[in-house]
Amino acid sequence: MGRCALERGARTGQESGMAQAAGSGAAAGGAPGADAGRAALLDRLGRPLRSLRISVTDRCNLRCAYCMPEEAYTWLPREELLTFEEVARLVSVFTSLGVDRVRLTGGEPLLRQDLPELVRLLRRDARLTEVALTTNGVLLEEQLPGLLEAGLSRVTVSLDTLRPERFHALTRRNVHGRVLEGIAAVARAGLPGLKLDCVVVRGTNDDELDALLAFGQQVRAEVRFIEYMDVGGATRWAPGAVVSRAEMLERIGAHSGPITPVPTQSSAPAERFVLPDGTTFGIIASTTAPFCARCDRARLTADGTLFLCLYARQGVPLREALRSGAGPDVLARLVSSAWHRRDARGAEERLALIERQPLARREELREDPRLEMHTRGG
Ligand code: SAM
Ligand code: SF4
Repeated sequence: MGRCALERGARTGQESGMAQAAGSGAAAGGAPGADAGRAALLDRLGRPLRSLRISVTDRCNLRCAYCMPEEAYTWLPREELLTFEEVARLVSVFTSLGVDRVRLTGGEPLLRQDLPELVRLLRRDARLTEVALTTNGVLLEEQLPGLLEAGLSRVTVSLDTLRPERFHALTRRNVHGRVLEGIAAVARAGLPGLKLDCVVVRGTNDDELDALLAFGQQVRAEVRFIEYMDVGGATRWAPGAVVSRAEMLERIGAHSGPITPVPTQSSAPAERFVLPDGTTFGIIASTTAPFCARCDRARLTADGTLFLCLYARQGVPLREALRSGAGPDVLARLVSSAWHRRDARGAEERLALIERQPLARREELREDPRLEMHTRGG
């Protein structure tokens, strides 16, 4: 499925002479549909640039053991964080190059003051078919009305457990009820496409797969189980803590009966499945079955650094160019030349390692906060 998408993208690029559109219609709020039909910008492996994850803050109100396990963090300097207007200007550059989906993430994106204002700004770009949010849900109930009014398309809430005491142990905060309230608020609002993302960690929550699937049914959300990844920030990662896609399927199948794959043409990271009772769910198997071959995603940190892979050591600094007055054409050239050079296959390279350990040591993370998962947006 992924290969088909990739081949289609590659053909489109060849027919049209590869990348184009740099700069055209790249001002925030460009004319609706101005670039409809523009060719895909392809990287060295023929992968198009289609989606952008924007981390709007590196701060978080939880301390999930698999993401932010340390006591102290080095934060991005506040004056270096992009303003919403700057984010929107950059996004319009990305949409001029083929991006049509944006996801706001973090850290915890709802900690960024007045996030609906950013959603509103992004919604002015008619080339975006979707402005989605990934959140831990703690502040969701209170902020949902403003976000919906601003035009938010979809919400994914991270939910690793249904047990309050387990949530407290995992996140070091006693706010499980607020997460559930946030999920209930989305369900009440009837916003389609609600997803619940669950990082499965052996000995922590791997006995809750069936309960989480049943909860997803109750709130009309699709649950996606994520393999524990050895990304920056995951300093407690160990191979033994990973519950593989294969093991998850075996356990779910033993409880619920035969599992059928749901075919998809999408470049989304999750493989989808359906149970005999009609329940659908996803698995994101970045650790044991990476999807690098169909990865069409760029990542922007809150300080305007572009990363082309979750595992990349180096990013492309866009903030300085932006603040020194570079126009849309110059910024588009920076992004497109980086994407042209892209040959990253971070998760596949990690899989090929004989001995696998956490990607980064604590000291490295302190020196370079951009290596952190919570800075890159997951
Ligand atoms: N704070 C928000 C949240 O938790 O949904 C958004 C940012 S968080 C970094 C984005 C996603 O990354 C979450 O779904 C989280 O569970 C996932 N994540 C963080 N560390 C991970 C790890 N080591 N392995 C797999 N997924 C991870
Ligand atoms: Fe947990 Fe998300 Fe915060 Fe990481 S950024 S600690 S995953 S809530």
